[in-house]
Amino acid sequence: LFAGPVAFLKSAPALHFLPDPVVPEVAFAGRSNVGKSSLLNALANRNGLARTSNTPGRTQELNFFDVGEPLRLRLVDMPGYGFAKAPKDMVKKWRFLVNDYLRGRAVLKRALVLIDSRHGIKDVDRDVMKMLDEAAVSYRLVLTKIDKIKASELVAVTERTVAEARKHVAAHPEILATSSETGFGMAELRAAVLESVL
Ligand code: GDP
Repeated sequence: LFAGPVAFLKSAPALHFLPDPVVPEVAFAGRSNVGKSSLLNALANRNGLARTSNTPGRTQELNFFDVGEPLRLRLVDMPGYGFAKAPKDMVKKWRFLVNDYLRGRAVLKRALVLIDSRHGIKDVDRDVMKMLDEAAVSYRLVLTKIDKIKASELVAVTERTVAEARKHVAAHPEILATSSETGFGMAELRAAVLESVL
């Protein structure tokens, strides 16, 4: 699984910068600080591949990563959302870019929506889930940083997240629990990524 290299291909700050739609894509979305860069790096086994973006100015791009040689799929790092202090026009730009990408991308096979296991699903996540429902992009919810919570809390947040997933037409009913720190759930995540592009 994920044999072969994962390499940064390009950043697309606007739709006309997208790479040609020639291989299947799997997109990763999540609130800023959810652990998306860490998860992508763990998935690719390469530190520093996806860079963390804690400053709002740097978040308005889709980043594409090629997986495998020969090329088998592309991972797409979507710009983080939910900055408390994000200016309105930035949020608007985010919505346009993401919506256009989601609606117009035939090679997009699935999205993974990352949820911080300490916080559970927030309203901004529900908004994104709704965008995915409406764009008819199937997606799966992935809990992150589970090393930070107790087993009993994991049970509770899992139940709540599954219940929420059931309310959304395009959400996969099973969720994944992961930790980039310990590697927990990474094999399942890789399998889920590969399964979605078969
Ligand atoms: P991003 O903004 O979504 O790309 O989030 P980052 O990957 O930069 O992670 C945000 C913060 O959470 C950083 O301080 C990471 O070290 C930390 N972090 C990310 N994943 C994990 C995890 O699985 N476990 C723990 N304990 N910390 C994590």
